[in-house]
Amino acid sequence: MARQVKRAFRYRFYPTGEQAAELARTFGCVRLVYNKALEERTRAWYAERRRMSYVQTSAALTAWKQTPELGFLGEVSSVPLQQALRHLQTAFTNFFARRAKYPRFKARKKSRESAEYTGSAFRWRDGELMLAKMSEPLAIVWSRPLPDGAEPSTVTVSRDAAGRWFCSILCIDTVTRLDPVEQAVGVAAGLSSLVTLSTGEKIANPRHERRDRERLARAQRGLARKVPGSANRDKAKARVARIHARIADRRRDFLHKLSTRLVHENQVVVIEDLNVRNLVKNHSLARAVSDAAWRQLRMMLEYKAGWYGRELVVIDRWFPSSKTCSGCGTITEKLPLYVRVWECGCGARHDRDVNAAKNVLAAGLAVSACGAGVRPQRESSRTGQSVSKQETHGVTRGLPRPRAGEEVKGGLF
Ligand SMILES: [Zn+2]
Repeated sequence: MARQVKRAFRYRFYPTGEQAAELARTFGCVRLVYNKALEERTRAWYAERRRMSYVQTSAALTAWKQTPELGFLGEVSSVPLQQALRHLQTAFTNFFARRAKYPRFKARKKSRESAEYTGSAFRWRDGELMLAKMSEPLAIVWSRPLPDGAEPSTVTVSRDAAGRWFCSILCIDTVTRLDPVEQAVGVAAGLSSLVTLSTGEKIANPRHERRDRERLARAQRGLARKVPGSANRDKAKARVARIHARIADRRRDFLHKLSTRLVHENQVVVIEDLNVRNLVKNHSLARAVSDAAWRQLRMMLEYKAGWYGRELVVIDRWFPSSKTCSGCGTITEKLPLYVRVWECGCGARHDRDVNAAKNVLAAGLAVSACGAGVRPQRESSRTGQSVSKQETHGVTRGLPRPRAGEEVKGGLF
């Protein structure tokens, strides 16, 4: 069965000098408008207990453009500025719904710079993309084709810290649902690998990652030695940014392949909702859970499962997946991080990560919508706890929660 989904296609492009200048100016205005609107909303709230709406910030923007100091805002395309206000609105909505922290100011250079153009601010014709206020189409490197007859709805242009330009083109694409399969898999963050599957398979970090990280460390040491403000420091900074960008690119490719594979092979994919911050605090894990890799993987699994008619189940982060015996369900008191293989009282011998992945799978199947139709890879891998009787969001209810602090010291999960 074919379905229509929104899908973003990202390409590099090489702007002309004129385009680069126009975009840099637009990025600056986007940041200014976002920060200024955030400031106003914050003041309205703290001084008057008043919530400003998107419409009110939009009216404020119109007023800013009339002033001599901010008149230059009227020189760039108005669409990216409006989009910045919409993004701020979303940030506030998430904040009020307690899904996110209070919105923060966009720092110059620190965050990736971007501008979002919707339909009225670009023209797509004969495979050429022309942005508002520009006289030539963008020189895009079409590393893969857009879907046939694609009609882009939004174009996001950005420049990363390494100075590379990208445009991300959102359009409607057709995806075909996969035939149902019986397989299900549990995915746990490994100590010795990036990801461990309940099948026992351990998936290492992308190739070159270790060498790239060594290069990064060397470049960072080099940067630290440079005199602030010197040309050499700028060069060293650019080198660090380039290596960062390469690591991120390789990881993204890798996670795309991994998530596609997991979704193709399995009807249900179960993953842990890891508190990445806690993990990264621990040095032995810092590399394994490289930065945002886990969150990125989860996001990819989410939308790909949606596309292909699969189910993704996310397990509560306090679920003691490592410490529970996947054979008999007993929870071990202590399991320090250095313990990679352990033996349960019942005689079962466990690889720490594989055991965790098996528990994740069992807990996920207990709450999965199609759990009944899916055979776990090993029936005895169910934890023996009465998790199956609990509802979707309370997977770990009834199981002991780790004490605060224990998390970081060693008794992870
Ligand atoms: Zn046991």
